[in-house]
Amino acid sequence: MLTFSQLASITHGSVLQFVHDLPVQHLLTDSRKLAQPASTLFFAIKGAFNDGHDYVSALYARGVRQFIVEQVVEIPGVKSGENFKYSFPEANFLLAENSLTALQEIAAFHRGEFLLPVMAITGSNGKTIVKEWLAQLLSPDEKVVKSPRSYNSQIGVPLSVWQINANHTFGIFEAGISMVSEMEKLARIIRPTLGIFTNVGTAHDEGFENSVQKIEEKLLLFKDVKLLFYSSDEKLLDEAVKREGIKSFTWGHRPDADLQILSQQISGAKTSILYKFEGNENQISIPFTDPASVQNTLHCLAVLVWRGMASETMQQRFDKLLPVAMRLEMKEAINNCYLIDDTYNNDLAGLSTALDLLVHQKRHQQKTVILSDLLESGLNEETLYSEVAAALKNRGVDRLIGIGKVISRHRLKFSMKAEFYTNTADFLQHFQSDSFHNETILVKGARVFEFEKIVALFGKKVHGTVLEVNLNALVHNLNFYRSKLQPETKIMVMVKAFAYGSGSYEIANILQFHRVDYLAVAYTDEGVLLRENGISLPIMVMNPSADSFAQLLRYHLEPEIYSLSQLRSFLTFIHTDSAPAYHIHLKLDTGMHRLGFTKPDFEELFTLLQTEPRVQVASIFSHLAGADEALHNDFSKQQITSFREMAAEIESKIGYSVTKHILNSAGIVRFPEHHLDMVRLGIGLYGVEATGTEQDALQNVGTLKTTISQIKHIQQGDTVGYSRRGLAETDLEIATLAIGYADGYDRRFGNGNGEVLINGQTAPIIGNVCMDMCMVNVTGLQVSEGDEVVVFGQELPITKLAAKINTIPYELLTNVSPRVKRVFYSE
Ligand SMILES: *Cc1c(COP(=O)(O)O)cnc(C)c1O
Repeated sequence: MLTFSQLASITHGSVLQFVHDLPVQHLLTDSRKLAQPASTLFFAIKGAFNDGHDYVSALYARGVRQFIVEQVVEIPGVKSGENFKYSFPEANFLLAENSLTALQEIAAFHRGEFLLPVMAITGSNGKTIVKEWLAQLLSPDEKVVKSPRSYNSQIGVPLSVWQINANHTFGIFEAGISMVSEMEKLARIIRPTLGIFTNVGTAHDEGFENSVQKIEEKLLLFKDVKLLFYSSDEKLLDEAVKREGIKSFTWGHRPDADLQILSQQISGAKTSILYKFEGNENQISIPFTDPASVQNTLHCLAVLVWRGMASETMQQRFDKLLPVAMRLEMKEAINNCYLIDDTYNNDLAGLSTALDLLVHQKRHQQKTVILSDLLESGLNEETLYSEVAAALKNRGVDRLIGIGKVISRHRLKFSMKAEFYTNTADFLQHFQSDSFHNETILVKGARVFEFEKIVALFGKKVHGTVLEVNLNALVHNLNFYRSKLQPETKIMVMVKAFAYGSGSYEIANILQFHRVDYLAVAYTDEGVLLRENGISLPIMVMNPSADSFAQLLRYHLEPEIYSLSQLRSFLTFIHTDSAPAYHIHLKLDTGMHRLGFTKPDFEELFTLLQTEPRVQVASIFSHLAGADEALHNDFSKQQITSFREMAAEIESKIGYSVTKHILNSAGIVRFPEHHLDMVRLGIGLYGVEATGTEQDALQNVGTLKTTISQIKHIQQGDTVGYSRRGLAETDLEIATLAIGYADGYDRRFGNGNGEVLINGQTAPIIGNVCMDMCMVNVTGLQVSEGDEVVVFGQELPITKLAAKINTIPYELLTNVSPRVKRVFYSE
């Protein structure tokens, strides 16, 4: 294992402080993912939204002793230059010009220590799937090391390559780029001997002048490979590869392809492919039919054929090929438990990311992991299960349920409370629901273990309507708004009304993980709920009633103060309380005429504030009445001007400057020059761009789904539902859906105003919407009982639905009733 001083000699950095040499086993770039402090080297990297240097102190406190930094870390109250000796006496520090470059240099050095063949994969789509499938197909013959999930960035690639060890016989790594000049760096780290270029799509075109430039940049990855696999059906790509003189192995429909596809035939769930290689025709059947999966499989086929694998062996392995599950779901479970269901690969890297996520679920103290045997090809059993045991211990897992013969054999390695079962059936047989209470449970099993059966046991049974919340999309939207802000502008996220219907605790938790500055809720009890579920961010309560002040203070919530009478009752309340300080937020009314102080209140406001020095104004804010509509621009600007004036007057009177904010989601987009110290993000996070000008930049977050309970034929002249409003003008086929106005499906959608999607087909509502159900016309559509129905989502945007019934997306989102189960997922 390399030590700090060896690594220091590899990078272009200078040693700032050296205490004693330590082994480096784990490279860390994200302080939230710390697992094994003693053998970790932390890289303080400056990112778009975060600066790694801000976390050095916290990591030191948690036991990290090796750091690569770009600057001296300033500690308040300690003289510059003296910092290291006094604040971090036991740590080694290396000063690098660029910490990310140092990480890449170290990974490149590590790669150079091994001689194994390495396949690099790039292209617009399918990188992760081709990587996972190729690993599945090769793994009986090779010990494969590969990128975890889609770790393909400037940081992800070095971390992936760092996993290589002497036991591996084949490497497969993804490389993804979004700008010119990134690929050369990745090529130096991966140093591939083989390559696959999956396809040329349109993703990330912004970073490039045109498709040809994008292709040429990506081809830099393959400058030195022995062979590049790609489809010669991609004309631009084919021309570019030939121009660059890269040796290749092509597949495609043209006769000059090395592996020529003669025909493709779908039957049932399989596609049969007739191909010709070196003059011989051959047939293979693959367990997929959609064009993307077929393309991904053909890349793998080309590699296997080139390796000379016997066609029988190939067929056996293709038969066993499994779809790549990238999905991780979180949901409520029985006995107030919370379930994390991760279907991604159960190897060490996959386990490690799942454990990171478990650690960041702050809702319950108690953490349980249900884990099957691991699929890991590069380590012997002893080492593997020692590492698994260490990973669980370091993440503070309280209880392990190990399922499988291999993990059971290594039971003595696990120091936490643990029980073992030889297989899933054995566990199911002994399952007792009352041995699980108030805990977060991570379920992580290799596919053959069929852990979906375990997940089903824990699931709370509800009717078939769910709101699926896409956490990747939510983070994407957060980052879209962040990219509009100056780095010093803070961000408060509105999670009032159950986070706009999406689910308050989970949303707050992911916002906390992504380090927003503030949260805001409407009422005290909403804030209390967040605190009870482990949310520690500052929280502003917009409308705290006087009778909730005790709760407010007990849970460290910060009140919005909007009137003199409210301020007086707050002051009276704290008179007998002994806290040293109280943070309040002053709301000014600049034209919305809802809540807030106006100028005439000022004199008394200042007098009252002077009576209680313990009360500190944390922020001053106001709210725009018409930020979403251009027609109100003049009015909005007037509001902003009077806000600035009023805030300045308050600051001069109270004698200190405070955080000022006025913009909501629409305002952030519309008034970039008035972001001030903080902005308040609401609906945009949930996927609706309220000015309508940048909707395409956001991703859909919530998808409301239900199911078909029954299908029936009715005759011309029959009527459907209450008040006989749905008249069949001809014979019809109708479907009854398990959603009604009590679930939040607005009654105004009735009688043809609304529609749903079933298997991609549009079905209009017929008759009135009932309390728990509604009926749709499915005449002529391909539908069956039990089919999934999309009520709103990507293909049926709530902006459109809202317009149909003359309301706004906010109302549709917040109307989804609490009885609808929320499922959170990421990919
Ligand atoms: C709800 C709310 C917001 C967020 O508004 P969006 O239009 O959802 O971005 C901002 N400020 C205040 C005071 C609010 O009540």
